[in-house]
Amino acid sequence: MAKSEVKLLIDGKRLDGRLPGEMRKVEMKVDVVSRADGSAMVKFGNTVAIAAVYGPRPLYPKYLQEAKSGILRCRYNMVPFSVVERKNPGPDRRSIELSKVIRLALEPAIFLEEFPKATIDIFVEILQADGSTRVTGINAASLALASAGIPMKDLVTACSVGKIEDTLILDLSGIEDNNSECDMAFAMMPSKEKITLLQMDGTLKKEEVKKLMEMAKDACAKIYEMQKNAIKEKYR
Ligand code: ADP
Repeated sequence: MAKSEVKLLIDGKRLDGRLPGEMRKVEMKVDVVSRADGSAMVKFGNTVAIAAVYGPRPLYPKYLQEAKSGILRCRYNMVPFSVVERKNPGPDRRSIELSKVIRLALEPAIFLEEFPKATIDIFVEILQADGSTRVTGINAASLALASAGIPMKDLVTACSVGKIEDTLILDLSGIEDNNSECDMAFAMMPSKEKITLLQMDGTLKKEEVKKLMEMAKDACAKIYEMQKNAIKEKYR
């Protein structure tokens, strides 16, 4: 990917004052949508995602049903006011792709075989987009699933890492994402040490890939603790 024209690092600090390995302020809250079976809101700085889970519930029409397993459906959507210029409402290529990516990142964690002929539906709404929306959405969706009481092997925890001006960074903001030399979306089940999503845009040296994955793992360990605390908060 071409090097950025925009200066993203000044005296070793990023435009929002963060150090390369620093995450934005993270906030999490479970049960924010009263009609959903489970829901959550996750903020990474100015990126705000809400996830709502419905189900497990019978799947219709019947020909969509799987005899021995439930299915997971996921819709990722960015609301029109989530970005500076109004975004056209409705699905586009990007949101269709991200819906699939989020579903694939979550699926390995869910005991779908316990719900034959049923569906679990996840809606991820991005209220504010400032980079890393898919990973913020995955963190919210995983909390929403847990809050809905869906049996899971582990929570799924996600973050983004990347490279700007030859420097490896954690948790990309919108301007960093748009001008990065490389960005990587990463999700894992921390207690199982299993990676469920790894996407990369740009080019990196082998050592840099290793370093970024280590950075992402360390960050996920911290986000995992925050997720567990957010669930505990529900029962407090
Ligand atoms: P992610 O949000 O998961 O990093 P992308 O790399 O596709 O996914 O998007 C990077 C960022 O670009 C988003 O977080 C958002 O800030 C911005 N963006 C995406 N789509 C639009 C859009 N239609 N209009 C304005 N900004 C957008």
